[in-house]
This record gives sequence, structure tokens and C-alpha cells, in this order.
Amino acid sequence: MEKSEIYEQVKIRLLRYSQIDTQSQPYSGHWPTTDKQRNLAHLLRDEMIEIGVSDVYMDEAGCVVYGRIPSNMQGGNGTAVGFIAHMDTAPDASGFEVKPWVLESYDGGDIVLNREKSIVMRAADYPNLSQYVGQDLILTDGTTLLGGDDKASISAIMTMAEYICSNSDIRHGDICLAFTPDEEVGGLARDLDLDRFGARCAYTLDGDHLGWYEDETFYASEAVFEFFGRSVHTGTAKGIMINAVDMAAQLMAMLPEKEKPQYTDGIEGFFHVISCEGDCEKARVRLIIRDFDAGNFGRREALLQELADDLRKKYGQERVELTITHQYSNMKEVLKDVPFMTQILKESIRQAGIEPVCEPFRGGTDGAALSFRGLPCPNLSAGYENAHGRFEYVPIHSMEKNVEILLNICERYATLR
Ligand SMILES: [Zn+2]
Repeated sequence: MEKSEIYEQVKIRLLRYSQIDTQSQPYSGHWPTTDKQRNLAHLLRDEMIEIGVSDVYMDEAGCVVYGRIPSNMQGGNGTAVGFIAHMDTAPDASGFEVKPWVLESYDGGDIVLNREKSIVMRAADYPNLSQYVGQDLILTDGTTLLGGDDKASISAIMTMAEYICSNSDIRHGDICLAFTPDEEVGGLARDLDLDRFGARCAYTLDGDHLGWYEDETFYASEAVFEFFGRSVHTGTAKGIMINAVDMAAQLMAMLPEKEKPQYTDGIEGFFHVISCEGDCEKARVRLIIRDFDAGNFGRREALLQELADDLRKKYGQERVELTITHQYSNMKEVLKDVPFMTQILKESIRQAGIEPVCEPFRGGTDGAALSFRGLPCPNLSAGYENAHGRFEYVPIHSMEKNVEILLNICERYATLR
């Protein structure tokens, strides 16, 4: 089958971008969390200039790249629309020396990723593969992640930009682009300058499965419990020792048994202990709270305060400290006031011949934070599979379709009043 120019371009782009190590790092203490993300940022800046994108700018400190394709309609008309994707890859798997390769017309069987190291992706272990029989896949050599999360999105956005810049007969309003660092470590697009970006409506591109979109995320916060014990020799401890690890264990036992990630799905919320460390003298429990409903979310935070108080009553006020830090909110709160944004997204997916699927996203997106900063941002899936691991892959057709969806979105914003 003849492959389109767009098909070739998204393929070449992902092969190129994925080889640049842009892994982010949690708790690094600075932003961007790793310097190497700038390597991709510089490349994207140069490439946007080459394609003919205007107002290309890289914020060196924040590591955010911007570009704009100005409206070509009379008097600069048309509603501006923006697209945002993240440059970093997840810390969960190595992003060093990624060696992407293309498997043409997948036959439905097991895929040998690395003959030398006998690394095989078994069709039985990854049922999602069966949807892509006959398609071309971009894969890893089984030792690193691919970084299709989120470079499949960057590839689609850049290819859409190139297509629009080189086809002047397509009518469009302002199209604003931004690529941001550190999404995987809770960066929440913190350094994205909304004035420089320009558009007042935007879409993030991230997530798996072609044709899926999200307009709802969790409410999210992180809670840190600190326990201060009293350590003495175990032989003479009676009536004196207070074990901080005991307090931490009691806290974890008091959390609602079935309200954990492993027991919940759909629109159910949870508590999740991320880490627990300590000794007799001092212990710390770090956990996250997630819920789709504002009321339930508030009750979850209140429950943690009650548990802290119970433990204080038992061991003493000064022995328990609880700090709750807000992370992000459910973007539905903002998006419900701009229903046309989700509507356009749905229509644009359908126009590309794909049935749109929307499920509440059991996580957060940079768009959730941006929505509350005044830039409403539903999310369109990137089309990658098995993200954050060595078995990640991207069907090239999914990226090609996303370019089509983006073009459909631009077309609709051109005539939006
Ligand atoms: Zn992502």
C-alpha cells in the first residue's frame, strides 16, 4: 500500500526524537529536572524555524519551546487554538541510547525485540497488539523505553505544522504550539507562559489508544506524615521507648482497606502509600489522595487529618506531623464552561473515521493544571502503547491519524465564532 507523505514524516520524526535522551528525574531539586531535555528543545526550536513557523522562541531557563503559525484568513480572523506536548520521558525505564526500529506489517505473532539478549514481546502478554495486525510499528530493542510518550505527539504536531506551513490553501486562524519539560514528574507545565503562548483554547496530546480523549482528571494531593519516636536501648525500653515505625504502621492499617489503586477503577477514588521509611526515632509515610468528586476528595483529606489526630491523642501532639500539598484539580470544573472544545475534539476524531472514546482519566495531565491557570485544555491521546516500559511501541498509522485529527481541529477553529 502506498504510504502518504504525512506517514513518512511522522515516522521519521519519531525515529529521530526518540533517540534523544530526555528522561526527567523526580526530586532533583531544580527545573527542568534534567538538563538533557534541552537537547530536544533546541532541536525542535531549529526545526520549527526551518519549517516556517513564526515567533519561534525557546525559554532557556524554563526549557519551554514556543511557535505560532499566524492566521492566513482575512484580517487575521479565526479563533486561535493551541497544541501542547511534553518532551521528557518517564523515570520508570531507561531513556539512554534508545534504538528505535520499524517492524513492517505486523503479522500478529510474538515480536523479537532483541535477538542477542533474547528479549521477546509475547502477543499473549500484550493483547493490545492484536489491534495492529497488518500495521507498521515502531519498537525498542527491549532495553529502554521508546519515548513515544510523548514524542508520538510531538511528531504529530510538528508534521501538522509542516503540512500547514507548506499548504497555503488551508484556511486557519492562529495556531500556537508549545513543548514542555517534566510532565512525568509533576511539572504541570509550570513554566509555560500563557501570554507568550497566545491561544486561549488548547489541547494537550498525551495518552495511549488512538481516538481516546479526556476532559476529566482526578483531584489530587500529596500527604506526608512524619512520626517522631523516642529511641532507647531495647533492654531497658519498657515504658520509655516510642517507636516511630509502629506509629507509621498503625496509620497504614487505619487507611480504608478497599480504597487503594489495586481495588478501584472507573470513577472510584483512593489513597495510595508511595513510600514508607524510617526507624525507631523517625519515620515518614508519603501518600497520595485521588478522587473525581470534589466532595469525596475533601472527605479523604479530612479523614487523614482525623487519623493524625487519633495518633496524636495516643502518642502526644508533638509526635505526629501531617502536611497535605495540593497537586491538581479535576479539569472538568473548567471545561464544563467551554463545551465547544470537547465537542470540536469529538467531531474532529470522528471526521478522521475513528469512533471517539472518552473515559475519566485516572491521573492528571499538564492540561489539568493549565485549565485552572486559564487555558482550558482537554487531552487527545497520542496513540502509543505500553508506555513507561521496555515494551513500549507506536503504530505509525495512529500518529498519521492524529495529524489528520489536528488538521480537522484547526479547520473547525478557523470558522468558530
Ligand atoms: Zn505522557
